[in-house]
Amino acid sequence: METFFVLTHVDENGSALSKASLEAVTAGMKLARQQSAKLTIGILGATSVEAANAAATTVAATGARLLAVSGKAFAQPRYATDAAACEALCRAAQASIVLAPGSSRFVRVAAGVAHRLGGFIDTHITSLSSNDSVDATRWFYRQRVEATISRETRPWFLLLDAGTHAAFAGEPAAAQVEEVDVTLPATRTTVEGLRSPMRDAQTIRPDARLLFVAGAGWTKKQVDGQTHVAEAGELILSFLRLSGASLGSSKSLADQKAEGLGEEQSVLPFLSHMNQIGQTGSTPRHAKGLSTCCHGEEPHVVGWRFIGERRAISLDPNCGWTRGKADVVYIADAFQVMAKINALLEARSA
Ligand SMILES: Cc1cc2nc3c(=O)[nH]c(=O)nc-3n(C[C@H](O)[C@H](O)[C@H](O)COP(=O)(O)OP(=O)(O)OC[C@H]3O[C@@H](n4cnc5c(N)ncnc54)[C@H](O)[C@@H]3O)c2cc1C
Repeated sequence: METFFVLTHVDENGSALSKASLEAVTAGMKLARQQSAKLTIGILGATSVEAANAAATTVAATGARLLAVSGKAFAQPRYATDAAACEALCRAAQASIVLAPGSSRFVRVAAGVAHRLGGFIDTHITSLSSNDSVDATRWFYRQRVEATISRETRPWFLLLDAGTHAAFAGEPAAAQVEEVDVTLPATRTTVEGLRSPMRDAQTIRPDARLLFVAGAGWTKKQVDGQTHVAEAGELILSFLRLSGASLGSSKSLADQKAEGLGEEQSVLPFLSHMNQIGQTGSTPRHAKGLSTCCHGEEPHVVGWRFIGERRAISLDPNCGWTRGKADVVYIADAFQVMAKINALLEARSA
């Protein structure tokens, strides 16, 4: 009989479980139910036992056994303390299958913890199922090949990709958390604080409902024979500010460099190769996507595999989007359309 253990951590505020952790809880509940097995949930990172209890209220409705490692030393992500805490939690849970969110905090330590426990780890898991054995699914070769994996080694750690499961949303209830003791390891790293970019500078927003893609057309000569790059930048940034969308880019746009500003300065300064979607870019998950001034060629559209509803605005009625790659295509001038959309959003927020 497997023992299913979901390893979670609190969010940046320290008072609630992260969304990705709640997604892992959903996956763990499903597996445990399929095998009529018990579920244990471990919570890492609360500053105190009281804070861990508060964070646990959101998952108390699962009926799972709840374990926690808390305290100031474990509140900040740091390899030595996180690895020691995760190891202690897994041992206390006597876990054979460990599910954890593929967050930066756990990606850093999970392989080390699996090694300490003599286990195995697989990452980027997108779905799980369980009959006689537990099967995990992940994609290879730029999301072109989907593989189903099962292993005999235990404990088996599975890091889940964000957005692949619904976040657990049960009624909050009083929780009784068992605190697990950890001998504090020697630490060399002192966390002095967090520095994050301004909201406007952070254009990649994995949790956004909408992916907004900018293509090279934004920098091309328009009907008046002129380019309008500054206006394009303003329209795109205004839309991101008003809608909260995440910004993606085609390769052709991300490759363009501003003259005289050096190798690394993109023609649209808020955009980098981190925004690039496609075969040599990323494959994000969003409920909807809106492509603008982009031709919709295959190496780009392959990055849209996990976008739920696809729309595009292009001047070209023969672009790739119109050839079955989008649900809705507007044959229109994106400068005009986005100016109108921004005005409507502005009026709504006023
Ligand atoms: C090995 C390989 C890997 C690649 N990997 C990637 C990748 O990961 N991601 C990627 O994106 N590409 C990738 N490419 C490149 C890809 O094939 C295309 O060249 C690229 O996606 C084209 O970008 P684009 O559509 O923005 O530009 P363009 O092809 O220049 O298209 C611009 C579009 O904008 C339209 N337009 C212009 N003005 C307006 C306006 N005012 N309103 C509306 N529409 C307008 C034009 O009609 C045109 O359709 C790869 C290619 C290769 C060979």
